[in-house]
Amino acid sequence: MQIVSYPHPTLRHKSKAVRHVDSELQIIVQQMFTLMYEANGIGLAANQVDLPLRLFIVNSEGNPEEGEELVFINPVLTQQEGQAESDEGCLSIPGVSAAVTRPSQVHVEAYNLQGQPFRATLSEMMARVVQHENDHLDGVLFTDRVATEDKLELEPTLDELAIEFQSRRDRGDIPDDEQILARLAEFEERYC
Ligand code: ZN
Repeated sequence: MQIVSYPHPTLRHKSKAVRHVDSELQIIVQQMFTLMYEANGIGLAANQVDLPLRLFIVNSEGNPEEGEELVFINPVLTQQEGQAESDEGCLSIPGVSAAVTRPSQVHVEAYNLQGQPFRATLSEMMARVVQHENDHLDGVLFTDRVATEDKLELEPTLDELAIEFQSRRDRGDIPDDEQILARLAEFEERYC
């Protein structure tokens, strides 16, 4: 398992609801935490590790020794209120950060890794992280939400990432779209 980078097609895949959790999925989630910590991240969505499932993980401290490891399965966001602007980055879009305006408060309902429902009203950084990760599940990247006048500045780095992606694909490091879709379909068959 590895974190995929822009413009990997799975980052644009709309994830499907998880219907059951098995021991293999629990191992997958543990591997996601390991990758997230290695990359110094605080949130990671399943798309980012090339999986088509509606789940993401968060540890607001980004450290296994601190903070709380939260798993959000089939999250539903409601009651988005207020507005706040802050810089965001993404483990799948290395080298890019930009201001994004989002609701400052959000209510979330989801299931944890034990299949138990939970709900929370989040604000500040947690509200932002959860909205950023939930966007991933719909194939939306934070760069899509950057104001038009700021987007131009990001283009050179995004173009570089696209060139790097293509050369890795040419070397055979990244499968073609058809192979990627076939693999996603296998996971959907199993878990959705
Ligand atoms: Zn992200």
